[in-house]
Amino acid sequence: PHRIVIVGAVAGGASAAARLRRLGEHSSIVVFERGEHASFANCGLPYYLGGEIVKRDKLLVAGKTQLEGWLNLEIRTRTDVLSIDRERKLVHVRDLATGDEYDQPYDQLILSPGASPIRPAALLEKVRPHHPRVKSLRSLGDADRLKELVDSGISSAVIVGGGFIGLEVAEQLGQRKVTTSLIEATDHVMPALDKEITAPIHETLTRHGVRLHLNVAVADLEPLEGDRIRVRLDDDRTIETDLVVLAIGVRPESLLAKNAGLELNDRGAIRVDAHQRTSDPSIYAVGDAVEVTEPVFGNKAYIPLGGPANRQGRLAADHIAATVGVTDLEPEELTYRGSQGTSIVRVFDVAAGLTGQSEISLQRQGKRLHEDYETVTVHPMSHASYYPGAQRMTLKIMFSKKEGRLLGAEAVGRHGIDKRLDVLAMAIQLGGTVFDLEQAELCYAPPFGSAKDPINMAGFQAANLLLGQTRNVNAKELEELIKDNAVTLLDVRTEPEYQTDSIEIAVNIPLDQLRERRDEIPRDRPVVTYCQVGQRGYLAETMLRQHGVDVRNLSGGFTSWRLWQ
Ligand code: FAD
Repeated sequence: PHRIVIVGAVAGGASAAARLRRLGEHSSIVVFERGEHASFANCGLPYYLGGEIVKRDKLLVAGKTQLEGWLNLEIRTRTDVLSIDRERKLVHVRDLATGDEYDQPYDQLILSPGASPIRPAALLEKVRPHHPRVKSLRSLGDADRLKELVDSGISSAVIVGGGFIGLEVAEQLGQRKVTTSLIEATDHVMPALDKEITAPIHETLTRHGVRLHLNVAVADLEPLEGDRIRVRLDDDRTIETDLVVLAIGVRPESLLAKNAGLELNDRGAIRVDAHQRTSDPSIYAVGDAVEVTEPVFGNKAYIPLGGPANRQGRLAADHIAATVGVTDLEPEELTYRGSQGTSIVRVFDVAAGLTGQSEISLQRQGKRLHEDYETVTVHPMSHASYYPGAQRMTLKIMFSKKEGRLLGAEAVGRHGIDKRLDVLAMAIQLGGTVFDLEQAELCYAPPFGSAKDPINMAGFQAANLLLGQTRNVNAKELEELIKDNAVTLLDVRTEPEYQTDSIEIAVNIPLDQLRERRDEIPRDRPVVTYCQVGQRGYLAETMLRQHGVDVRNLSGGFTSWRLWQ
């Protein structure tokens, strides 16, 4: 029979194996897994640690019966693939239980070895390399050991890294009443997102007792009595703790590929073509170990996420089946669409996420606001405001100046964040524009949304902007304009709103008095209007423009400003 060998039996590997079997009953499919478990739910590990997922078995998404009984896959766990002999088309493996080594031949090989947590040597210099209280979270075994520690009654933990794994672990330890500190080297958690989108996460972490340390890195870890650890920060503060969890990112596990001479990029990710084939056409690679193409600009990127790994596994299987003639699909047509980094995190009562490009990522690529791209930020309610339970959300979209093509979207709030991001993710994948958002027909009944959904609202404002009916500034830009003393700032909210809190240099003329009092506005520099969320500011802007004022509106109003601060 046709011989397929797969390295790694979790997200990408298990998906590829299952798909291959469904397409080809007669192939031999052998899957090697170094760990003890095949097809477990790595994304569920934090929730098991925190006790939200009670039964460990639930994490074993496909059990032995399904993998071996239903799918007739040969899963060899606790078996390490040591090397690949591309000439002879064999992998050399070691059975970790017995120490036996042997060769396994293949016609096609799929690599899905994943990525390993980064554990910088400099940080770990003073503690033992496998100090029992300096952990990372990747495997079910890691989760078991972390859970044992938490169950044993440790009272404090330091999480290093504010990405989604760090945040999920912080949330879960917080729920377990462990005093938790979260250290993040940049000025906001979820560094891939824009700062203002993450402000509600900072607020919820603090409200739930997680001690957040931003703009500071961990310098080193020192062992103390009784396995406790002293964490020294690079501003010389120290925190003594029972547990350190390193969540500062992952690195592609590509040594096997490298030693086999397969092409890697400079971050060590395996290079693949649109069919997930490596530089050796008999070897495919998928998941956290590979480089991807992001579809917005077509750049190469590294985006280690569960969805892409599963879809790439399925695609590689389809391509193999088509290539060897098991299906009559055209191999050339089976291509991966790219990974745009659609992701979401829940932190206590707040959810935040991103799809496509954030504004910081556009700026890192040298794109200029108002020249290459525009942004719109709205703060609508999650569903009809008159129906109980509606919560305000923040939705920010990035789109091209030229044709309004959607480049990225971010959202944060308590309800309905996932569905807005999902719709926007699909719009990006299909090359949609802000005019498509304006026209989008979405689910509406009061408990679910509004007749003008947040997505429509963002589309309306973006379309207005592109059609010249409004001009805006965003909070970051306004901060610079204020610094340069280059703007007159006009707060058009009511006096009580203005008195409660406002932007320092703003003058207050409530919208309903603006027509009569417009001559009070100095005209020696451009005017920026703002209100609470943007709507009254927009009305003021359009009115003043018709009276010859050079004016722009602050996108998302004072709410955006506060989030940015
Ligand atoms: P993995 O699923 O990691 O599988 C690789 C397997 O290969 C490993 O089990 C490894 O033991 C094995 N292996 C490696 N080398 C060898 C070898 N030489 N021989 C034998 N076996 C080998 N993504 C999301 O999109 N959403 C989430 O909410 C989310 N949450 C996550 C939470 C946690 C705690 C973690 C760790 C990850 C999370 N992810 C999430 C990421 C997601 O799990 C990964 O993107 C996905 O599992 C990658 O799939 P993969 O097949 O490339 O690698």
